Parts: sequence; structure tokens; C-alpha cells
Amino acid sequence: MKLLTCEYAGRAFAGVSDGSRVWEAAPDMLSLIAALDGALPGASLCAGEGVPLEAVKLLSPIPEPAQDVVCLGMNYAEHSVEAERWGGDAEFKKNAGKAVYFSKRASRIIGPGDFIDGHFDIVDSLDYEAELAVILGRDAYKVSEAEAERYVLGYSVFNDVSARNLQTAHKQFYFGKSLDTHTAMGPWIVTRDEFGWEPQLGIRCYVNGEKRQDSNTRYEIYGAAHVIAELSAGITLKAGTIIAMGTPAGVGMGFTPPKYLKSGDVVRCEIDGIGALENTVE
Ligand code: MG
Repeated sequence: MKLLTCEYAGRAFAGVSDGSRVWEAAPDMLSLIAALDGALPGASLCAGEGVPLEAVKLLSPIPEPAQDVVCLGMNYAEHSVEAERWGGDAEFKKNAGKAVYFSKRASRIIGPGDFIDGHFDIVDSLDYEAELAVILGRDAYKVSEAEAERYVLGYSVFNDVSARNLQTAHKQFYFGKSLDTHTAMGPWIVTRDEFGWEPQLGIRCYVNGEKRQDSNTRYEIYGAAHVIAELSAGITLKAGTIIAMGTPAGVGMGFTPPKYLKSGDVVRCEIDGIGALENTVE
């Protein structure tokens, strides 16, 4: 089942979809997640005719998250190698064997077709990062790895847009990762029951049709079970929490010379079984 946020007939709402039709389910996704109360959406939400999926305008599934996005850094080995070339993995090396976590401010998450503001007055090295987003369906506190799966609602495609000059100029990632429109997610959330645990899915990113990233989520160093168990040992991860699981190799900064984004570039992130998220830099 797909969970989505959309506009239809001049109104925005959260709904469920079987891939061909959409049924309105709640005013917004966080209300829908609260109503589901940890359960996966069932067929009862698909009562009535619904509307054709092609007729709605898809928005980010969670346009206004309740909290910052939890992000993993250096969570694919090959990406940590390319990051080493520009000195970006010092923390990873220092903390070998420990996941790297950081937070991404996202007052508003952009969705399919929305523009990425390059902020080129303060950014000279705009970059993309295709990632698997894990969305929690219930509050998680002191959850073991064995129990973690049932706290996951589903998955989406995520672009951790990054301003490399700000990311490296400041001691921590927060500013460089958090500029307005630099969090993109969509086109929807696919519920966890459509995949094995943990999902092993092809993940790719294209810029203007050129394939830049091509990997599989099976190569994540730390999977969702590890992350949920580790963080929930001391933090209550609220329902609706978004965890961005890190990006594989092939980001712009990894090329020699770097291939940073410029105005007009079209970035397409895609994950097998979930879908594609395309945004243009303005
Ligand atoms: Mg990232």
C-alpha cells in the first residue's frame, strides 16, 4: 500500500493508494499516522470509488514533519572512501565501528516536481544524496533490533541535498544540510509489508539523465534495526520520525573535478519498489 499526500480539486489531504486509485484518509499524513496507531493501513481505508492516481498532484508525503530528520552519515563504505578524498570522513575514521548521526532541519519537505533553491548567494558547491528514508509508525523507546521492524511504517525516496561549502566550513553538518528546500522526499511512502526485512533495494541518482549513483540498500553499513535499537535506547523516536539512511558513492563532491549542481539541473533519485523523486534546481 502507498501512503501519500496530494492535492485534488483544490484541497490537500493524506490518502492511501493501491497504485491506480487514491482514497482520502486524513487531513494530513501525521494525522493519518496517529490514526493508524502503529498498525499498517488496511483495505477498509479503500472504501468507495476514490479518485484516479493520475488525477492528483503528489506532494511530499510529510510536507511539514513534527521534528528534524534523523540522518546517517558515511553509511555506505564506498561513499566514505570518496568522502575521504576531501577530508570529509575524519569523524567516521575516528569513530570506526560507530554510526555517524546528524540532524537536518526541515520545516518544510519538498516533494515531486518542486524546485530546489540553490541559495547560490551563499552556496558554491551544491550536491545531491539519494537515500532510503525510513518512516516510523509508532513511538519507539528501548526497542530491540528484533522488535524494530514493527515500529516501521514504510519507506520513501529521500534527497539529502547538501551545501558542501557550508557543511565543511562549520564544525558540524547542521547548517550545510538544512537550507530551505534542501530536504526532498517522495513520491509516497510504501508500507513495510511490501518488502523483506530489511529491504534490499536498488538505489540510483541521475543528474540531467546522467547516472551518478547506482547501489543497493543492502550495502548500508548500519540498517534500520541497528539505528532504531541504538537511538531508542536513550531517545524516544516519535511516530512520524523520518530516518535518512545515508547515501551511496557517486555524489558530486566525489568526482575529480567535482560535479556540483547548478541552476536548471534536474535531479532524479529512485529506489526499486518505491519510485522516483525528481526535482529541478533553480
Ligand atoms: Mg546524507
